[in-house]
Amino acid sequence: MSLAGKTAVITGSNSGIGLGVAYELARAGADVVINSFTDRSEDHALAEQIAREHGVKARYIKADMSVGEECRALVETTGTCDILVNNAGIQHVAPIELFPAAKWDAIIAVNLSSAFHTTAAALPLMRAKGWGRIVNIASAHGLTASPYKSAYIAAKHGIVGLTKTVALEAAGQGITANAVCPGYVLTPLIESQIPDQMKTHGMDRETVIREVMLARQPSKQFATIEQIGGTVAFLCSAAADQITGTTISVDGGWTAL
Ligand code: NAD
Repeated sequence: MSLAGKTAVITGSNSGIGLGVAYELARAGADVVINSFTDRSEDHALAEQIAREHGVKARYIKADMSVGEECRALVETTGTCDILVNNAGIQHVAPIELFPAAKWDAIIAVNLSSAFHTTAAALPLMRAKGWGRIVNIASAHGLTASPYKSAYIAAKHGIVGLTKTVALEAAGQGITANAVCPGYVLTPLIESQIPDQMKTHGMDRETVIREVMLARQPSKQFATIEQIGGTVAFLCSAAADQITGTTISVDGGWTAL
């Protein structure tokens, strides 16, 4: 598979899954734009490293995915967007009656509304070329629920619905829209939840990982960022031309339970 000549914009990609996706798309030959809301020398260094390792063009563009105009500007500044991967995401865990309203708003903005804005900006560019791929990084929590993650689960179910709608609006135009639904992937977002879980359950790190985090992941293994990136690259390949409006789970069997 070659994605040479294609430009991919990956939101929230200076870390974790987004960075893994950027690497896999670059490995397949795509030029990549990586993004977050910071503007540090390390962010730009990541783009330089991808360009060096894979012989593609890579840029870092700062844009805050909680701000609609910045989401649209990310795509517009790139100028061309053949592949759009909506990956930026945040989490907060609390019972619904204690869930801070500001956290709810932030999660809905970053995890859901950002994809509405980037997609609206990218679709005209894709239609002009008669080819495009939109891949939304949802979650097993886009298909099923757990307690205490109301905003995240609402946003992830929402992005699955958005994916289906975009697929229908773009059908027959060479543009597909799909959602990847990972189970647990050991990234900074998950690392940050481990201390709280240890405290809540009175368990050590290894027990929390095995008994709490991977309790619903029958494989008892984390998915890797390379596996998520590889799934996104597959969805960008010609083999996936007729795959649209659907979800692909990479969850070690979680949603089969
Ligand atoms: P992460 O914390 O490593 O990465 C999140 C990325 O989003 C970072 O690059 C961060 O800088 C960026 N980001 C956060 N707020 C932003 C903002 N306002 N503007 C721009 N960028 C912003 O987490 P991750 O685990 O790699 O998560 C990536 C995506 O995968 C998220 O959408 C998450 O919900 C989803 N996901 C993760 C897992 C998992 O187990 N790690 C499972 C299912 C789905």
